Amino acid sequence: MKVASSGGIAIKLEDKWILLDPISSPGIRPDVILISHAHRDHYNLNVLRTFYDVPLVASKETFNIIVQGGYLRNRKVFRMEDGEEIEVEGVHIRAENAGHIPGSLQYVINEKVVFTGDFCLEERNVLKPAKIIEGEVLIIDSTYGRPPYIFPERRELYERIERLVREKCAEHGYAYIVARSPGVAQELVRLFMDKSYPLLVHINVFRYARYFGIKSDFTVISGITVSEGVHIYPYRLKNKLRKIDENTIVVTGWAAGWNDPYSLPLSSHSDFEHLVKYVLESGAKKVYTVWGNARSFSKILRDMGFESHQIALR
Ligand SMILES: [Zn+2]
Repeated sequence: MKVASSGGIAIKLEDKWILLDPISSPGIRPDVILISHAHRDHYNLNVLRTFYDVPLVASKETFNIIVQGGYLRNRKVFRMEDGEEIEVEGVHIRAENAGHIPGSLQYVINEKVVFTGDFCLEERNVLKPAKIIEGEVLIIDSTYGRPPYIFPERRELYERIERLVREKCAEHGYAYIVARSPGVAQELVRLFMDKSYPLLVHINVFRYARYFGIKSDFTVISGITVSEGVHIYPYRLKNKLRKIDENTIVVTGWAAGWNDPYSLPLSSHSDFEHLVKYVLESGAKKVYTVWGNARSFSKILRDMGFESHQIALR
C-alpha cells in the first residue's frame, strides 16, 4: 500500500489509485475519486471535470451542494448513504456517517483503510455523531490535533452562547453571531429557533438550512442590519461585523486557542481528545494525519508509540 499527497490524498491499493478529497491536479490518474463532504477545501470542480470519466463517489447531499457551485459532467457518479457498501473498479467501499455536515461520510476502503474526512463524535442538535470505525490503516482529520484544542461539552457551549446573546440583547437589542456555513451556523439557527428572540438568518446560512432539516421559521436577510434579535451570519463577515459591534460573537474551534470572552469553540470537527480517542479505539496499526495540525498530531502519536506519518497537502 502506498499513500501520497497528490492533489489530495492518493492511495494505491492492489494496483488501483484511489484519490480522496482532491483540491488540485493530482500527479496520478485515479481509478476512483471519493469526496468526504461538500466543504470547499475538500474538492475542486476543475479536477472533478478533468476526470469526468473516472468513477466519482460521494453522498447525495454532497453532490447536491457541489453542483450549486457549478456544473459537473462526470459520467459515473455513485451516491452513497451511511452504512452502504459498493464495489467500484474492483475497489470495495463502505460509507459511514461522519457527523460533520449533512452528507459528510467516512469511507472504509477494501476493509483495510479508514478515511475519516472531517468528523465529529459529539451528538449535535442537527446531526448524529460519527462512529469510530476499526481498521488496519487510519487516515484521520487532524485540524485540532494539538492539546490547546480541547473543547468544553456542547451543552455547556450552547449555554454560554445563549448567556452572551441574552446579555447583548438586553444591552443593545441585538446580538451578532458568526459561524461556518454549512456547519455550526445552522446548528446555531436550530439552537435559537426555540427561543423568544426574533431570529434573523443570513441568506448564505439559510441556503443550506434544508439539508439540516430546518424549515424557515425566521427572517432571512441578505445584508447586515441592526434589527432587534439574534443575527446569524457566515464566518466570512466577521471583520465587517466586528467594525459595527466589536463584541460580535465568533464561534469556531480555533477560539479554544484565543483568550476572548466573545469567541467560543463550538465546532463541526472533533477536538484533540476525540482525535486521540478515535486513534486508540480504531485499533489502527498505522495512522496518517492530514489537514490543520497534522504535523503536530503525527508527532504526538509517534510519542505515544504509534507508527504515524503526516500527509502534507499544498
Ligand atoms: Zn469540513
